[in-house]
Amino acid sequence: MALLRAIFCVLFLGAFLVSCAKAPITGRTQLILISPEAEKGLGLKTAQEILGKEPIEHDPALNAMLIRVGSRIAKAAGRPDFEWEFHLIKRDDVVNAFCLPGGKVFVYTGVLKYTKDECGLATVIGHEVAHALARHGAERMSLALLSQVGETALEATLSSQGPQTVQTFRMLYGLVSNVGVILPYSRKQEFEADYIGLMLMAQAGYNPMCALSFWERMKKAQSGRPIIYFLATHPTDEARIERLRMVLPRAMERYNSALK
Ligand SMILES: [Zn+2]
Repeated sequence: MALLRAIFCVLFLGAFLVSCAKAPITGRTQLILISPEAEKGLGLKTAQEILGKEPIEHDPALNAMLIRVGSRIAKAAGRPDFEWEFHLIKRDDVVNAFCLPGGKVFVYTGVLKYTKDECGLATVIGHEVAHALARHGAERMSLALLSQVGETALEATLSSQGPQTVQTFRMLYGLVSNVGVILPYSRKQEFEADYIGLMLMAQAGYNPMCALSFWERMKKAQSGRPIIYFLATHPTDEARIERLRMVLPRAMERYNSALK
């Protein structure tokens, strides 16, 4: 698969003048057929749409907590080019959160009963920010567009940011209210976001052990009543928790040196 990706990168690099990216921290090579600028533009556009449509929770204590945790994770992300914002959407029935390219983070109030405390919230924000840093949406979008349109249409679609591009983008971020479909992240991307997220929260001074208890709570919730949003885009199982356990010592090292 790595070889195939490399071949695709070379082919499309010439055809579409797009760069082949590398995920942060893990260094994995990615095939991404959309420029960071176009991706950021889509992110900002989508953020404005959401803010115009969704009910915003204005509770001062909850917002202060979100901004406190979000700012620490953002600082650990080391992306001053992102215009970070943190918004709380008042939907107790929706267990979801996402970070759009460019740094607009949205957390639904429904997720707070599972995060429980700031450390739990740092797990979710760290994970979502990791998806954005590693450009997972753009990566999925590139594959989705490749399978949907022909080569000539591809270039036009990507450069125009037309309706199809925007719709695919919304699907990728689990914005189901408009399109009714979720495109889940791949398993590889989920593990990668877990790993990067764990490192981010450790760097930000949150104990990475919280991530394990958070995902254990999600797994338990999943076995009872299914949680439609978050678990559809981030399915939880024993393999994910096992992988987290494996990389925990490395995260603990980073956490301990961040505390010094
Ligand atoms: Zn995820």
